[in-house]
Amino acid sequence: MKMLTAKKIILIGGGIGGTATALALYRAGFEPIVYERMAILSEVGAGVALWPNATHVLKELGVLDEVLRESDPITNY
Ligand SMILES: Cc1cc2nc3c(=O)[nH]c(=O)nc-3n(C[C@H](O)[C@H](O)[C@H](O)COP(=O)(O)OP(=O)(O)OC[C@H]3O[C@@H](n4cnc5c(N)ncnc54)[C@H](O)[C@@H]3O)c2cc1C
Repeated sequence: MKMLTAKKIILIGGGIGGTATALALYRAGFEPIVYERMAILSEVGAGVALWPNATHVLKELGVLDEVLRESDPITNY
């Protein structure tokens, strides 16, 4: 089997999926390069709902505290 030696990885699309993948790859020692076709990223829809599986990933990526500062929890007592 041929070993991977290249460090650069190109990602097409800078949405939440591409951005999170780029961050994970960077933290794993790779050099991700994100190509995004839109000049400006803006909000679409009512807001992103994050469930525990997503918040676990954000915590692993080291950005959960920042996301929580910018968001509001949904509660149902
Ligand atoms: C109208 C609408 C409303 C929504 N509202 C909500 C909501 O209220 N709450 C919620 O939780 N989810 C909502 N969603 C779903 C949510 O937006 C998606 O689940 C989420 O954005 C998917 O993330 P992603 O990174 O996979 O894809 P995307 O966010 O779609 O990101 C893909 C990116 O790739 C870029 N791209 C595509 N092709 C190319 C190319 N050839 N070259 C360069 N760049 C490229 C696009 O410009 C885009 O920025 C909504 C979706 C839509 C369409």
